[in-house]
Amino acid sequence: MTNEQIWQAVLGELELALSKANFTTWFKSTSIISKKDGEFIIGVPNAFTREWLQNKYHKNISRALQNITSERITRIEYILRSSQIAEGNLIQDISQKSSPTKGQPVVTLNVPKGNKAYDQGGNRINTKYTFDSFVVGGNNELAHAAAIASAEKPGSAYNPLFIYGGVGLGKTHLIQAIGNYIISNDNNKRVVYVTCEEFTEDFINFIQKGKDESATFKSKYRDCDVLLIDDVQFLSGKERTQEEFFHTFNALYQNNKQVILTSDRPPKAISALENRLMSRFEGGMIADVSIPDVETRKAILEGKCQEKNVSLPDEVLNYISINIQNNIRELEGALSTIIAHCQIHNINPTEKTAKTILANIITNPNKKVATPKKIVSTVANFYDIPTKNIIEKNRKKEIAWPRQIAMYLMREESKTSYPSIGRELGGRDHTTAIHAFEKVKKEVENSEDFRQEVEIIRQKLYLAD
Ligand code: ADP
Ligand code: MG
Repeated sequence: MTNEQIWQAVLGELELALSKANFTTWFKSTSIISKKDGEFIIGVPNAFTREWLQNKYHKNISRALQNITSERITRIEYILRSSQIAEGNLIQDISQKSSPTKGQPVVTLNVPKGNKAYDQGGNRINTKYTFDSFVVGGNNELAHAAAIASAEKPGSAYNPLFIYGGVGLGKTHLIQAIGNYIISNDNNKRVVYVTCEEFTEDFINFIQKGKDESATFKSKYRDCDVLLIDDVQFLSGKERTQEEFFHTFNALYQNNKQVILTSDRPPKAISALENRLMSRFEGGMIADVSIPDVETRKAILEGKCQEKNVSLPDEVLNYISINIQNNIRELEGALSTIIAHCQIHNINPTEKTAKTILANIITNPNKKVATPKKIVSTVANFYDIPTKNIIEKNRKKEIAWPRQIAMYLMREESKTSYPSIGRELGGRDHTTAIHAFEKVKKEVENSEDFRQEVEIIRQKLYLAD
């Protein structure tokens, strides 16, 4: 059987097992990208679908695949396909275009086009991320010093340099500043910057195209002087990509080429990471970036004002830096919001205007509070059911369970009282809300898969509309 025949059969089984809405939502643009020795790589159109398949449908997929192929399935990996294919009807695309019997690849994965560093000569490092525009404070002193050292003497200071820290705290800025610095010092140095996801895509492309692509892949990653990989926590669980990365790393390391990595957590905390890779990551310098103190936050704001060529009164800068604490991206976002607002309405920024404009973000400095309404719509959206079904009386399991999750999130996220939760959800009794909360809480504690599912919903709650 060809890959597409196998996948069509799998889809056939899944279609029977799932609701039509679920099936269409999650499986519409999926395909088998490759299979070898029981390892299947499934292409998915976006990260959200990937998480969903991994967390929720993995068992179904695995079972269906096992029913259909005679070989023993050792692993299934889900990877993002490039957007071009995802937009078309992939299943049709494959049957029309591929001719596997002639040994051609089933799907032609296109390397994402355009602005990539490795498009021979092109470089997608953002030139605005420099050391000059990076404000140093107690929160990033060590990472900054190590970054400067690696930039000045690539390959001989710390190798690898591993920078980790939470979202929006300057990791990408710092790793790209290293790239910019090296290129500006010596234009002949080959600097490759990719996110871990791009590395994975390239790798898949390489396995898929085989020998043809091998030279391109190897030369891109092994003939460079400096390899910058952003967000390596995404290597988690990707065994084959990890293996390839290990070899790439060794090849570079042996030739004294600099490798710099960022991650949202230290190497030890990256789950499902091979030991040998972890020990490589830990073999150089590990430096963290953390939340800046208020003076540093203000200095960052001043820097951004300079970049934007605007000047704001001190009271406004103080107000923002005191109130937005955990994420520099949000700090910048608040600044831009205030500037834009004042420009549009032609008013002078004062602390009072800043306060009004930022009221939303600042009521809870850690995050915006999700309203019960937003929770209901996000949950409904996530489970692909109409919002009104969640509110109305409907005992079907595929409705009742999301409703209980919505109740749980209302309690957890917006501290809504049980009676209000009941009211929000179609006038139910408060004991129903308590029961739902306890039930979901228990499931979160007992099932890692489900915990992740709820985490995805939680993240979606706070995505900008
Ligand atoms: P991360 O990669 O850690 O999620 P980024 O590097 O994308 O975070 O940083 C988010 C934003 O905050 C960027 O616009 C970056 O320029 C800015 N930023 C972060 N740290 C600093 C800093 N120390 N000085 C100036 N700008 C910073
Ligand atoms: Mg980043």
